[in-house]
Amino acid sequence: MIPVECEFESEVLAATLQGRWPDRVDADLRAHVAACAICSDVAAIAGVIEDAREEMSAYAVIPDSGRVWWLAQVRARREAAEAANRPMTAAQAIAFVCAVGLLGACFRAASTWFHSVLGRITSGMAGYDIDASLASATRLLAEHGALALAMAAVLFLVPAAVYLAMGRD
Ligand SMILES: [Zn+2]
Repeated sequence: MIPVECEFESEVLAATLQGRWPDRVDADLRAHVAACAICSDVAAIAGVIEDAREEMSAYAVIPDSGRVWWLAQVRARREAAEAANRPMTAAQAIAFVCAVGLLGACFRAASTWFHSVLGRITSGMAGYDIDASLASATRLLAEHGALALAMAAVLFLVPAAVYLAMGRD
């Protein structure tokens, strides 16, 4: 069976990439590489890669750090502007329509309820029976208190939910 890895492989690779191969390594390691097929392959390939890297970095023009920073700033600003101008997605539009419909239904229910309460109070007052009208109003509030609370919750929660849905990317 042909071995596929060797315990000295990483050592040979490190020495080659650090430019220590073949002159500045232990004689033992050099002897091992000469005898080991895996390590000699590693040394040969890493040596070629390292030579190519040195050659490329000699020709590479590294841009000025100020220019790199400036380009990054321009790009970040452009991306922020694009995100702000992004049109609503279909899901957001549907959520918005649903929320508006729900709000409209709530307003209608609330105004109907308010009119009925007002009608009962004024009819009670028309008979100059303040106690009866107050009792009537109190009973109505008790009856519809839960409804009023639910509506208030919806009125606050729906806009919050829409805002969160719109704000999310
Ligand atoms: Zn080896």
